[in-house]
Amino acid sequence: MADEHRSAEVDLRTDRAHGARIYDYILGGKDNYAVDRAAAEATLEVWPALRVHMRANRTFMHRAGRFLARECGIRQFLDIGTGIPTQPNLHEVVQEVAPDSRVVYTDNDPIVLAHARALMSSASAGRTAYVESDMRQVESLLAAPELRETLDLDRPIGLMLIGIVHFIEDDDEALAVSRRIVDALPTGSYLAATIGTDDFAPETLARVADVYHEHGETMRLRSAAQAARFFDGLELVEPGLVQMHRWRPDDDEHLSLDEADIAMYGAIARKP
Ligand code: SAH
Repeated sequence: MADEHRSAEVDLRTDRAHGARIYDYILGGKDNYAVDRAAAEATLEVWPALRVHMRANRTFMHRAGRFLARECGIRQFLDIGTGIPTQPNLHEVVQEVAPDSRVVYTDNDPIVLAHARALMSSASAGRTAYVESDMRQVESLLAAPELRETLDLDRPIGLMLIGIVHFIEDDDEALAVSRRIVDALPTGSYLAATIGTDDFAPETLARVADVYHEHGETMRLRSAAQAARFFDGLELVEPGLVQMHRWRPDDDEHLSLDEADIAMYGAIARKP
């Protein structure tokens, strides 16, 4: 089915803001609506650092993908909460290291599906696929034919939960969902995640969460201890759970960022 045809058919729910489209607007994309721009501008008013923060999330994803491909030999990736395509996408990052890398993308927002063609530009030695699914539907996600045809779940997987778990409000549910996915992966798999936090600017981030809620979007921020629980039972690689811009920064710009401007922890851990 042509993407255009599909996007005309689906209900994009432009009556409320969507995290994927706010993120797209802030990163300079065009796939967003007035309601998303209003939410983004209202957030920028209470927190001018939103753009710095969101860019730092995207570049953590690049570093994490590169690290897993280059240092850990990971050749299969499951990217949950992919977002609207923004170059470089994960497969472009990891196929630059290893062209035979395979990536399955998944998101529950129909706007991401409408643009999924941009995620299908795989190197010929590798492969990509897209599955529209809610992360909470773990069994059906893992059973999806596109996923099964692309990934061998008996071999290590790099599971990417980048900038997504703050969209699951309930702590027990967020942890249980992430745990069930990790449980389905073999030894030697890795979890790379960024987790929203209000530890570094509590008052400002409380206002950010209010703005998201007022515009119909979820925003659950967590403490370091709550964020660490996503990695229970896994072996954190150095430097452990840190503010995401401090996770193996690859340039001085990352180090010069103000900690109050970065509202996510980042970490990568290996499944023993
Ligand atoms: N991982 C990307 C995009 C982050 S934006 C990056 O780091 O650059 C977060 C994405 O998670 C959005 O596209 C949103 O639609 C998606 N998302 C939120 N809740 C979800 C859920 N329950 N299941 C699947 N995707 C979800």
